[in-house]
Formats: sequence, structure tokens, C-alpha cells
Amino acid sequence: MMGLTNEHLAKWLEKTNAKIQENKTFLTNLDQAIGDGDHGINMSRGFDEAVKKISSTEYKTSSDLLKDWAMTLLSKVGGASGPLYGTALLKFSMSMKDKEEVDYSSLTAGIEEGLNGLIQRGQAQEGHKTMVDVWSPVVTFLKEQPAFNPEGFKEIAKEAMEKTKDMKAIKGRAAYLKERSIGHLDPGSVSSYYLFSSLAEVIEEEGVGL
Ligand SMILES: [Mg+2]
Repeated sequence: MMGLTNEHLAKWLEKTNAKIQENKTFLTNLDQAIGDGDHGINMSRGFDEAVKKISSTEYKTSSDLLKDWAMTLLSKVGGASGPLYGTALLKFSMSMKDKEEVDYSSLTAGIEEGLNGLIQRGQAQEGHKTMVDVWSPVVTFLKEQPAFNPEGFKEIAKEAMEKTKDMKAIKGRAAYLKERSIGHLDPGSVSSYYLFSSLAEVIEEEGVGL
């Protein structure tokens, strides 16, 4: 089977949601340490709603599925995470327009478009202790590899997420804490790690040829 089908994309969403529900308290605790404590609640509500929407709708194209995922997050999630994830997924969806399947180059381009959306919307760069610190190395890795490498991909995302612990926040609410933001993982980077590790697991488990 070549490329990610709509069924695979739905499984990606479900798997990400399962990790978010399982780690809801952990995400809340992380955001309580350096933010306003709403990341666990917002992500769990938004991804639950997205699963409900996508599992009850038939999609002709992957672009349409990704768009609904994005729009659900944009409309149902408050705080910073809904607009950020929503924007990233909407950019991904737009890059998939008129494409028959999500092959390796379109997956790479889609995630890169998502990263560009995050940078634009959040006005953040690498090293600011935000989701960009996971998305950016993930995009670089995808562009360097000739084909999808699930183990390497997961490892890159995990290392990138862990690196945010020692960073001083420059963007987001955590930036008010200055040096005191050091020593805490960035909550958005942790949820981004759930998103990307879930993608790698679906590709591996379903034997997707990418
Ligand atoms: Mg928050």
C-alpha cells in the first residue's frame, strides 16, 4: 500500500487523541508550571471533538479530512493551542489540495507548510521554547531522508521535545517567567511529540509504503 490513505489519517488522529487523553494531567501539570494550566484540558477537548467529527464523516480527499481536523480545533479549542494546531493542520490540508494520495514528498511538504503556519501565527522561531522546536527538526529530518524512517522520526521528535526543558522561553506566556522557565518541558512540544510519534506508529503498524 503506497501513501497514507484517509483511513491512516483517521488512525493518526485517534492515536494522537489516545495519547493526549492518557497524558491529560501530565500536560496540565506542565502548563501549570510555566503557563496558565489549560493545555491538557484544551487538547483533550479539541482532539476528542476532532475524532467525533472525522469518524462520523465520509471524506473524498485527504485535504478535506485534514481541513475538518483543523477547523474542529480552531472552533472548539481556546487558549493558544487550538489556533496553533488548527493553523498548522489547515496549511497541511491546503498543501494537499488536488493530490490523490499522501506520499512521502507531500507528507514532508505538508508538515513543512504546517511549520510555516506555526511560525507565522505564533511569531516564534527555533529556540524560543515553543512547538516550533519540535516541528522544525522534524521537517529537517524528513527532508534529509530518502524515505520515511519511523524509528529515526520518533527519536528526532523525542529528542527535540526533551531539549525544550533547558531552554529559556522567549515566546508565549512562559516568556514572562524568563530564567524560571528553564527546567520545564514546553507543553506544546510534548503534545507535538504525541502527534509525530503517533504518525510514525501508524505508518509502522499499518505497513504504509512511504
Ligand atoms: Mg496554556
